[in-house]
Amino acid sequence: MVVPFFRPEIDESDIAAVVETLRSGWITTGPKVQEFEATFARYVGARHAVALNSCTAALHLALAALGIRRGQAVLVPTLTFAATAEVVRYFDATPMFVDVDPETLCMDPAAVQAALAGPHRAEIVAAIPVHYAGQMAPMPQLAPLLRDAGCSIVEDAAHALPAAVRDPMRGVWIGVGALSDVACFSFYANKTITTGEGGMATTANAALARTMRSLSLHGMSRDGWTRFRTGSSWDYAITAPGFKYNMTDVAAALGVRQLRRANQFRARRAQIAAQYTAAFANIEGIELPRERPDRQHAWHLYVVRLRPEHQRAGRNDVIRELARRGVATSVHWRPLHMQPYYRDRYAHRPDDFPVALREWQRMISLPIFPRMTDADVDHVITVVRETIAWAGVRGGRTGMPRRPAVR
Ligand SMILES: *Cc1c(COP(=O)(O)O)cnc(C)c1O
Repeated sequence: MVVPFFRPEIDESDIAAVVETLRSGWITTGPKVQEFEATFARYVGARHAVALNSCTAALHLALAALGIRRGQAVLVPTLTFAATAEVVRYFDATPMFVDVDPETLCMDPAAVQAALAGPHRAEIVAAIPVHYAGQMAPMPQLAPLLRDAGCSIVEDAAHALPAAVRDPMRGVWIGVGALSDVACFSFYANKTITTGEGGMATTANAALARTMRSLSLHGMSRDGWTRFRTGSSWDYAITAPGFKYNMTDVAAALGVRQLRRANQFRARRAQIAAQYTAAFANIEGIELPRERPDRQHAWHLYVVRLRPEHQRAGRNDVIRELARRGVATSVHWRPLHMQPYYRDRYAHRPDDFPVALREWQRMISLPIFPRMTDADVDHVITVVRETIAWAGVRGGRTGMPRRPAVR
């Protein structure tokens, strides 16, 4: 038996919706994109939503609309995906890495405070907190710090549909996007809802929304849907050298369907997370992710961390052994300051960010997706239990323990 790391949840109604759009005669940005934007904005409680062809595009356009310029710096947690930092480089600006909180693995407010008090404070104009694994970064702490320093805030919410955090001052739950300028979502194949490739930028600011929308389609003043509808004028104005980042109606047709099931998907992932947590609670060799009482976790990822003092086998050995026994896993991620490009360009050393360095070496992301059957979940639980026992220090034995049989 093999449990894959992820499989998208596409049902017959998703397929029917896409086919219907293909038959409609309008396959690029049009009425389905408008519907997806409107329902998405309602779902996350945003005033404006701009549908794009990736979250990377959303992050790029957010920084463009906020006016990031060459030589400026943007705070980025080092424990994130390539996209969060590369979009800063698009402007020849500096992604200034900060360390993460050891519990949540999200941007650490203390590290942000230190950066804002450091020698480069004058260059720092924005920050991109990442909601790691689907648990929101501490926006109620981060936002005032950043606002006081005059920084713009863009949320990398690629993992966080849906998620929320409790504001300790007001005692209310707030969602993604409530305390930032722009929030950026991903509908990549393995995200919490998918359009194959796709993304969304949400904002409360009409001017930012207008700029992002225009930049998403060559900097044109009007999109194709408004231009090509019968009776419309052919003319448009090009107001900036824009990009080609618009979402297609084919993708949006899938997005509209997926969004309707987002809560149901989230409930199933939360159920799997709870099953893992109950089953692994008394395994000494691993630490489990925890939903903080002040967060509503999207459970995009379930990341366990090995306790090195309990293992003879290294993290990569454990991953190989899990794969051999039929459980596919992943690692999110090697910190960006340790990637050759950023390491060499900014002369980073691994221990520049000691928490990210320590934590990434012991993390393993387990399969968690709505399509998992109970048998899949049971298989992961059994294999993880046995593999951690195999990897553990047993009775003073030395060397690598004997491999268990493949089941
Ligand atoms: C997946 C991901 C992205 C990029 O999303 P795309 O839609 O593939 O561009 C950005 N940030 C994080 C944290 C991600 O996991």
